[in-house]
Amino acid sequence: MKSFRKELWFTTPHRRDYINITADVEKCLKESGIREGICLVNAMHITASVYINDAESGLIQDYDDWLEGLAPHEPISHYRHNRTGEDNGDAHLKRQIMGREVVVAITNGEFDFGPWEQIYYAEFDGRRRKRVLVKIIGE
Ligand code: ZN
Repeated sequence: MKSFRKELWFTTPHRRDYINITADVEKCLKESGIREGICLVNAMHITASVYINDAESGLIQDYDDWLEGLAPHEPISHYRHNRTGEDNGDAHLKRQIMGREVVVAITNGEFDFGPWEQIYYAEFDGRRRKRVLVKIIGE
């Protein structure tokens, strides 16, 4: 069995950003040389997510509005977590609902995606260096 590991680093310009990382992860798959197996992609931070959905117009703004409705960033005093002096109480909650990781099957050297599936990195407390782990196992 072969094993491949790589970290993808991001510094997003805004507090919240949504980045399509499908091409980056596909590059990892090519680099790995693995043709049959499983690929795990996970955010290595507790205020960011990796998820799979469509790259359709409007959807990212809909996610962001929905998440802000559930856990608005402000007022920051609304979150007990922020009594620690941090201001990212909302980001922890947003990460929880959008998830930590995705797993994609690899068949014949390609990701075995459903229709329209794309891999996204969702940042909820950005403007600093953060990373995503890509782990691929198979043969
Ligand atoms: Zn925090």
